[in-house]
Amino acid sequence: MSIDRAILFRLATSDVVEQVVRAVPRGEELAWRAASRYVPGTAAADAIRAAGELHARGVAASIDQFGELVDDTLVAQRVTDDYLRLAEDLAGLPQDAWLAVDLSHLGLDVDLSGCADRLAAIAQALPEGRRIQVGAEDDARADAVLKCVLDVADRGMADRLGATVQANLHRTPDDMERLLEAGVHIRLVKGAYLESPDRALPYGEPTDIAFMRLAHRLAEAHAPFALATHDGVLREALLSALGPVPVEQLLGVRPEILNDLVAHGVPVRVYIPFGHNWFRYWMRRVAESRGA
Ligand SMILES: Cc1cc2nc3c(=O)[nH]c(=O)nc-3n(C[C@H](O)[C@H](O)[C@H](O)COP(=O)(O)OP(=O)(O)OC[C@H]3O[C@@H](n4cnc5c(N)ncnc54)[C@H](O)[C@@H]3O)c2cc1C
Repeated sequence: MSIDRAILFRLATSDVVEQVVRAVPRGEELAWRAASRYVPGTAAADAIRAAGELHARGVAASIDQFGELVDDTLVAQRVTDDYLRLAEDLAGLPQDAWLAVDLSHLGLDVDLSGCADRLAAIAQALPEGRRIQVGAEDDARADAVLKCVLDVADRGMADRLGATVQANLHRTPDDMERLLEAGVHIRLVKGAYLESPDRALPYGEPTDIAFMRLAHRLAEAHAPFALATHDGVLREALLSALGPVPVEQLLGVRPEILNDLVAHGVPVRVYIPFGHNWFRYWMRRVAESRGA
């Protein structure tokens, strides 16, 4: 990990930066103006509108309510209720609209089996043919996230679930085999968290090579999967080798490429987050746009 990347990552996830920006006159307003490229709004209706607009361009969407690290089961239940309403809303959206969630938002840290139950309740409430994609969090939570996903898949809901695997983590090839066996959809990403060298490959070439190898393994297994990257070279190399496999992007990141992918017959899905906790997410995107 380069020092620059570590500094940018820490700045992007710092409470102090957020407090300072929000305290400056018009700071929040100006920050929101920049962030709104990545976040359609604070309400579910904003995300639903954005999903409809993308659908008109031939692009699918996965809607996520911002939030993570919930350490109170009552809050986790409230979040679950919000997701149950979102699951109902999906019925009014095109068939390719899915949901997305981070399990620490559903109380993973305080109550693993309750978290699995909450994920199962949301998966069960989805209209037929839809999925809820579970995000990958830091390496320390990877075991718990994997357990929850496998538990819910085991309850007969693999076709309603998606998991995310991070190419940079040493554990991912093994985890991915278990997810393949379970039959859930797999979203392959490079990995967004700062991890120690004993747990993860460095950002850059080693992670990119791991991403390539994992993508080939997913294709060989005929798994339902997507390449979730904005790295044009990596994406094009894989599309040339594997054919038009699905690609996922984050809303607002390199949006100019979406039409081109659709025109070339590549199925494209965009992650759409909404909610009040947009500040850190925006800072993280800004850091990544500068190579962090
Ligand atoms: C749909 C989706 C879901 C994800 N879910 C997870 C998850 O659950 N867990 C997790 O750890 N990570 C997740 N990620 C993030 C991922 O791990 C990477 O941190 C992030 O995608 C950046 O890596 P990259 O593959 O795009 O490649 P990079 O090499 O970081 O970027 C490729 C190119 O895109 C450019 N770029 C990147 N961001 C921007 C931007 N904001 N504006 C303009 N250009 C930009 C870069 O400058 C670079 O030129 C997800 C990513 C996507 C697309």
